[in-house]
Amino acid sequence: MIDITEARSYVLARCPAAVPVDVPCREATGLVLAAAVVAAENVPPFANSAVDGYAVVAASVAAAPVELPVVGEVAAGAHTDRVLQPGEAIRIMTGAPVPAGADAVVMVEDTELLGDRRVDGGVRVRVRRSVAVGVAVRRVGDDVRAGAALYPAGTFVTPAVAGVLASVNAAVVSVVPRARVAVLSTGDELIDDGSPLQPGQIRESNRTMLLGAVRDAGCDAIDLGIVRDDETVLERVLRDAAATCDAIVTSGGVSMGDYDVVKAVLSQIADMRWMQIAIKPAKPFAFGLLATGPDGAARHVPVFGLPGNPVSSLVSFELLARPALRQMMGHTVIDRPLVAAIADDGLPRRHDGKTHYVRVFAAFAADGRVHVRSVGAQGSHQLAATSQANAIAVVPDGDGVPAGGDVATMLLSLGATS
Ligand code: AMP
Ligand code: MG
Repeated sequence: MIDITEARSYVLARCPAAVPVDVPCREATGLVLAAAVVAAENVPPFANSAVDGYAVVAASVAAAPVELPVVGEVAAGAHTDRVLQPGEAIRIMTGAPVPAGADAVVMVEDTELLGDRRVDGGVRVRVRRSVAVGVAVRRVGDDVRAGAALYPAGTFVTPAVAGVLASVNAAVVSVVPRARVAVLSTGDELIDDGSPLQPGQIRESNRTMLLGAVRDAGCDAIDLGIVRDDETVLERVLRDAAATCDAIVTSGGVSMGDYDVVKAVLSQIADMRWMQIAIKPAKPFAFGLLATGPDGAARHVPVFGLPGNPVSSLVSFELLARPALRQMMGHTVIDRPLVAAIADDGLPRRHDGKTHYVRVFAAFAADGRVHVRSVGAQGSHQLAATSQANAIAVVPDGDGVPAGGDVATMLLSLGATS
C-alpha cells in the first residue's frame, strides 16, 4: 500500500493546467484568469451623483435652510456645460455627471421645490440641511483606478469579478478553459434503462453521481454511458474519449477481480499506475495517461480509474480526481476546506495501517466550532448513508477519535444546516 500523499503527488504531477484561451468576460464566470488584468479605465469614469437631488456649492448651503435658484437639470446619460456658480443649484439624478463648479449634492429628501416654472419662468429650491464638500459625489476612479493591477493570474472569476471586468472594458480575457471530462461505468451487472432487474443485475449509480461531481468541480461532463465488460468495446470507447476530451473518469474494474476489464485494457493502451492506497474506503485506484493524436504531437489525457463500490468511487474522486481536475483548470485552491472539527460522538476504529475517511454531518454549533457526527453506515456500498454527509472526517490510523476530540474534517458543502 502507498500513502495517500504519494498517490496525490503522482496524480498532480501529471495534470498540468491547460493552455489558456480568450473568452468574452460574460463567459468567464467559474473559470480562472490565465493572465493578470490591468484596469484600462477609471470606474466611475467621471464624478457623478450618488442620489437624486441638487448639485450645489457646499458653502452656499452652510447656513441652511436657504433658497437657491434652480438653473438647470442633468439626468443620467446626459451632461451640462453650465458651470454652477455659488448660490445656484442644478437638479441632478443618480449617476448623472456632477456639473463643473459643484462640490456636493443635496438629496431631494432634504429639499423643497418652490414656484412653478410655467408661471414664474424659473424655480427655486429650499435646502433644509447643509452638506459637507464631497457629500453624495462619487469621485472619478474611487472604485477602480485606471492603470491599477486589478486581478493577478490565478484569480477565480466570480460573478462580481466578471462584472468588474465588464466595468473596465476588459471585454475579452485570457482564462484556463473548463476541462471536458468523460465519465463511464463498466460492469456486466449494471443496467440503467429502468427495466426489471434480472438475477445478478443492479441499477447503475456511479455514473449519475460522478457526472454531478465532475460538474460540481467546475468541469463539463460528457456521459459515455455503461460499457460492458468487453475489452474491444472498452478500448474503442476509451480511445474515442481521449480524442475528444481532456480527462476520463471510469468506475469499476480496477481491483483484483477476474473480469476487471478496465485494468486489462488500460494496461495495454495507457501508461498506468495501479495503486493500493492506505485509505478506507477507496483502496484500489488507478491513474495514468492515455496518448492520443499523431506521434510527436500527441496529447496525454489523464485517466482516473475509480473503484466500483459507489462510496469508494466518490471518496477517491474527492481525494484524487477533483484536485487534479481543478489544477488542470488553473485553480490555485484545489482542495476542499479542511477544518479542525469536534467529534461529538467519537469516531472509534481499529489499527489497520490505513487512514479512514469517515462520512459525517458537520454543522456550526453555538461555540463557533464545527461539530461532526457520523452519518451511520460506513460500508463502501452504502451510498444512501453517505448521501447524508456534508463532510468527511479524516481519522488517522490508531484507536480513533474520542467523543469531544478534534478531528480534521474536509467540508464538502459549507453552510448546509440540515
Ligand atoms: P468492481 O470495482 O467493478 O469490482 O465493482 C465493485 C462493486 O461496485 C461491485 O459490487 C459492483 O457491482 C459495484 N459497481 C461497479 N460499478 C458500479 C456502478 N457504476 N454503479 C453501481 N455500482 C457499481
Ligand atoms: Mg466490475
